Amino acid sequence: MSGTLFSDVRIIDGVSATSYPGEVLVEGERVVAVARAPQTLPRNGVEVIDGAGRTLMPGLTEAHAHLSFCGAQDLHEFTRIPVEEHLLLTIENAKLLLERGFTSCFSAAAAKPRLDVVVRNAIDAGRFPGPRLRAATQEMTPSGNLGDLDTIELSLPPQVRFAVTCDSPDAFRAACRFAAREGVDTFKVNVSGDRGFDAWGAGTDATVITDEELATVVQVARGRGKRVAAHATSAASVKMCVRHRVDVIYHAAMADEEALDLLESAKDWVFVGPTIGFPYTLTHEADRYGVHHDAATRRRLEAELESIVTVCQALRRRGIRVLPGGDYGLFCNPQGTNARDLEHFVKLLGYTPMEAIQAATRHGGALMGRPDELGQIRAGFLADLLLVDGDPLDDIGILQDPERLDGIMKGGRFHKRPLEARRRLLAAE
Ligand SMILES: [Zn+2]
Repeated sequence: MSGTLFSDVRIIDGVSATSYPGEVLVEGERVVAVARAPQTLPRNGVEVIDGAGRTLMPGLTEAHAHLSFCGAQDLHEFTRIPVEEHLLLTIENAKLLLERGFTSCFSAAAAKPRLDVVVRNAIDAGRFPGPRLRAATQEMTPSGNLGDLDTIELSLPPQVRFAVTCDSPDAFRAACRFAAREGVDTFKVNVSGDRGFDAWGAGTDATVITDEELATVVQVARGRGKRVAAHATSAASVKMCVRHRVDVIYHAAMADEEALDLLESAKDWVFVGPTIGFPYTLTHEADRYGVHHDAATRRRLEAELESIVTVCQALRRRGIRVLPGGDYGLFCNPQGTNARDLEHFVKLLGYTPMEAIQAATRHGGALMGRPDELGQIRAGFLADLLLVDGDPLDDIGILQDPERLDGIMKGGRFHKRPLEARRRLLAAE
């Protein structure tokens, strides 16, 4: 058998406004033909998967992945996991994400310097199953900001620290060049503060690095063919990122009209990852993990969530590419539940199920730097496919149910073979 034919499927191709019945032929690692009618593609010499009316769609992209984040409540916990165990945990998370339908992950920082790079290389070499991975640096941050774990952190050797602290353009340049040497794809830089860092003057509305520092990061990235992704919650940090042509802007929670205008003017190249998953679970579900907010904290969290929702609705209206992906791996937002972000897009941000899926597939392929071969079901594109039992356009929530992901294919090979085809193989033995 030299190929796979998916017959009798409803195709969500990542571009078309509606799904349609048809057939898809895969040869090698790519889709070679898509037919919009039944029984039209050649069947000889290929394995035929009878879709029985199920949905065939592109694999999902997690746009804000932290494969090395393993449930820690306090960032200090990451530094206490020895490198060896941490590598195993990261490998397990990579496999878990693929099993949950994510065939691509764009990393938004690793918890130790080489975790993403090593795992990406091992996946690419076929040593472990996992999604395609764009490997990131650690969080690069100025002192006294998100990621800097104070004096305790400074006493640790660099290879177990959570972040790289940089306090001048030269320091950022050195960190970027070091990371380029190790083989990362993306430089992650914390341009704004974050919740919980107000005491350091680095709350969500603070912008904590200088223009010169960000310019340096972007300059090294351009020279070395890397992407830049930024943690940017404050309005000023979003504007700074657009001015410096930062490729991926995360959060943008406090973007004002001027920031929205700038983002709109950049919509041909910029990607926004609002990262709704974690603030949602932190606000509504932290109790389940033994964290109980007092009334003032709850009000603050609710206001922040509301602000993210308002900003995202504006981004959607303005046609800016906004992608699902939400800091899964933090304590109340477990790895493997990542497809919940698509439901948040529909239920909180006003996206249609098709828009949410296209954001996670077509835009995901573009985010991965492969707009012409990833994230769509189309002849010539890589065969990263999900065979879904049911219609996610009716209920986007089914994408979170591993039982409904009947088939998972990456690069033309099944990671999970559909049940019917598994049974057929067993019967033939
Ligand atoms: Zn993150």
